[in-house]
Amino acid sequence: MSEVTRKVVFLIGFIAVCAIRVHFMQLVKQNKVVDGRTTAQEKFLLILTFFGMFLLPLVGIFTPWFEFASYDLPDWTGWVGTVVFMVAIWLFWRSHIDLGLNWSASLDIRENHTLVESGVYKYIRHPMYAAFWLWGIAQALVVHNWIYGLSYIVSFLPMYLLRIPQEEQMMLDTFGEQYQEYIARTGRVIPMIKSASDL
Ligand code: SAH
Repeated sequence: MSEVTRKVVFLIGFIAVCAIRVHFMQLVKQNKVVDGRTTAQEKFLLILTFFGMFLLPLVGIFTPWFEFASYDLPDWTGWVGTVVFMVAIWLFWRSHIDLGLNWSASLDIRENHTLVESGVYKYIRHPMYAAFWLWGIAQALVVHNWIYGLSYIVSFLPMYLLRIPQEEQMMLDTFGEQYQEYIARTGRVIPMIKSASDL
């Protein structure tokens, strides 16, 4: 797979994800936030992901500035990356559909918030974050560059580690025993892993 093809694949995926996000951002406006838990740390993490997931890849694709940091991978990795990319976009879209009006970009409880335990949420508690991991892996395989190929994974890791405990605490505060039971039968991002390491 040539470099140009890989860049085109990346841009198509990128546009698809942006379109899904913008659509749901408009949709959830009708369900008001009643308990917003966005801290300064959360804002910082969101800005970090904006750079790693959005800005750096675009700069890398449209300018020659990061060419010095390219790496070489066999041709077939581009195809594997494309498949992982498609799975990531599907999971991202599906989790938005399942969460519906309960979705927020940050940590919020909305006016008519319900606990979603069906669809992809039946198997894992954080399918959208699972989609982000898949996207990060795909980006590294499709965009062969130490800076903007890896920027997604690097910027998402702190958000993943710091946000999940806060998000789950917020859900426990709101849904109590119902969320406790939900935790007991689901994995975080990998189905059926419910051990002490709890992925
Ligand atoms: N962590 C989830 C959701 C990410 S969006 C995932 O990865 O799929 C973040 C918002 O989703 C949070 O502010 C929270 O209000 C909401 N949320 C998370 N899990 C939920 C669930 N099972 N049901 C309803 N809302 C949920």
